[in-house]
Formats: sequence, structure tokens, C-alpha cells
Amino acid sequence: MLDLTGKNALVTGIANNRSIAWGIAQQLHQAGANLGVTYLPDPKGRFEKKVGELVAPLNPTIFLPCDVQDYEQIDATFSTIAEKWDKLDILIHCLAFADKEDLSGEFSATSREGFNKALEISAYSLIGLAKRAKPLMKEGGSIITLSYIGGVKVVPNYNVMGVAKSALEMSVRYLASELGSANIRVNAISAGPIRTLASSAVGGILDMIRHVEEIAPLKRTVTQIEVGNTAAFLSSNLASGITGQVIYVDAGYEIMGM
Ligand code: NAD
Repeated sequence: MLDLTGKNALVTGIANNRSIAWGIAQQLHQAGANLGVTYLPDPKGRFEKKVGELVAPLNPTIFLPCDVQDYEQIDATFSTIAEKWDKLDILIHCLAFADKEDLSGEFSATSREGFNKALEISAYSLIGLAKRAKPLMKEGGSIITLSYIGGVKVVPNYNVMGVAKSALEMSVRYLASELGSANIRVNAISAGPIRTLASSAVGGILDMIRHVEEIAPLKRTVTQIEVGNTAAFLSSNLASGITGQVIYVDAGYEIMGM
């Protein structure tokens, strides 16, 4: 049975009720996990209020700002976990960013700054969070990140984010190899296209969704809750033998050649 009772889960990446991380948080909560939630702070505190109201029904016992480019905030997040929880069991890395101008047009026009920013936020951050999670995952654990097929195959306009997802997926394998001896499993979910704040920055996202609805074996794309269900499974002891994998939750789109 899928049961996360007694497990502590840190969920990053909730911006609003369309966020994939919101679908994951709901399903972890439903399976009995105790939640900690971090959000990207903004100067006016809008995200804090919005995300705080959204997640309140899930009773998170930790709620903190954590910009993954701010190392003080990352350290403060993990210090709070060490103080408040006896252990960490689940880490959900569900965030990414690239400048909008790098998400359409010619890939060769990607700026050095834009490349570094996209790779730092979208790929390196997994390494930084995993490093700090490791000593807190005293009874082993499950680290899950979110990828997209654009990290393996060329998807028009995905551009620099495709390179970031490729680095992210390889980081999953290196982390899985290192952390396996501590019984920490590391996996990625490669989700089909879903309308969210982040995906709306990718040029032609609606066309991508329509294409998937036509081609994918299930003739549709997926929901945040379906991704959340897979994250709950990967977080649980039911997935105790799975690590270093990229699991496609994409209505089968990945298998199609034409
Ligand atoms: P979203 O906009 O709801 O979530 C992206 C999150 O990243 C936001 O909560 C944002 O605050 C956070 N973020 C951005 N920069 C950050 C920073 N510096 N520090 C901390 N957090 C930061 O969009 P989403 O689609 O739910 O994206 C979640 C993940 O799923 C991303 O990794 C995305 O690439 C991946 N994904 C999305 C799709 C899709 O079609 N929506 C498909 C496959 C994978």
C-alpha cells in the first residue's frame, strides 16, 4: 500500500495552483506525509501570501523562502529542517528558470549569461539541495526532480532549457550512484507538457500540447495530479528498488517515432 505516514517531505517549486509541485504536494499529503514547503520570494511578498494561502490546508510544518540562487536561504532552509524534524525522507526539486528570450528563436543566439542562469537554477540547484539533504536523510530517502523530453530530443523553442534538462538528468544518475550507499534514491519524472507559469514562457507551448494530444498513445497530455501520483510512488517504499531513472509521465508520447 502507498503509505507515506511518518515521512517528512520538502517540496520546492509551488508558485500557484497550476504548479506541478502543487499536484505533488497534494498527493504526498494525501498519502500521509508531513510537508515542508519553500517558495521563491519576491520583494513585495506576493508569493509568500499566495503560496501560503494555497498550501495552508495541507498543514505544512515548515514554510520558508528559498531562492536557489541565494545560498544563505538554502542553508537556512536545511538548518530549519534539522531543528524541526528528526529526519528528512523526501526532497522534491520542482523548479526551473530561463530568460524568456532564450526560450524561442535561434538556439545559437543564447547568451552566456542566459545559459549560466538557466543551468544554475534548473540543474545545479539539484546538486546543491541534494548535498544538504544527504546528512538529514538518516533513514535513507527519495529525491525527485522534474524533467522534460526536450532534454533528450530537440523540441522547437525549448532551447537552453533542453541543455539544462540534459544536465539535470545526468546529475540524477551521478547523484544516484553516490547516494545509493546511504539508501537515498534519486529519480526524475519526465512530464508531458502542462500549462503552467513556467511553461507559458516557452514559445509555442499550446502547439506542443496540441501535438501531444494528437500523437500520444493516450491521445491527451497529463495532469499535475498524475505527476503527483508518480512522485508519491517514487517517494514510497513501493519504489525501493528504483534509482537513477527518468520515468516518463507523458501519456506515452516518448515511445512514438512519428
Ligand atoms: P511553475 O512555474 O509552476 O513552477 C516553476 C517553479 O520554479 C516556480 O515555483 C518558481 O517560483 C520556481 N523558481 C524559479 N526560479 C527559482 C529560483 N531561483 N529559486 C527557487 N525557485 C525558483 O511551472 P511548472 O511547469 O510546474 O515547473 C516545475 C518543474 O516542472 C520545472 O522543472 C519544469 O521544467 C518541469 N516541467 C514542466 C513541464 C510543463 O509542461 N509544465 C513539463 C515537464 C517538466
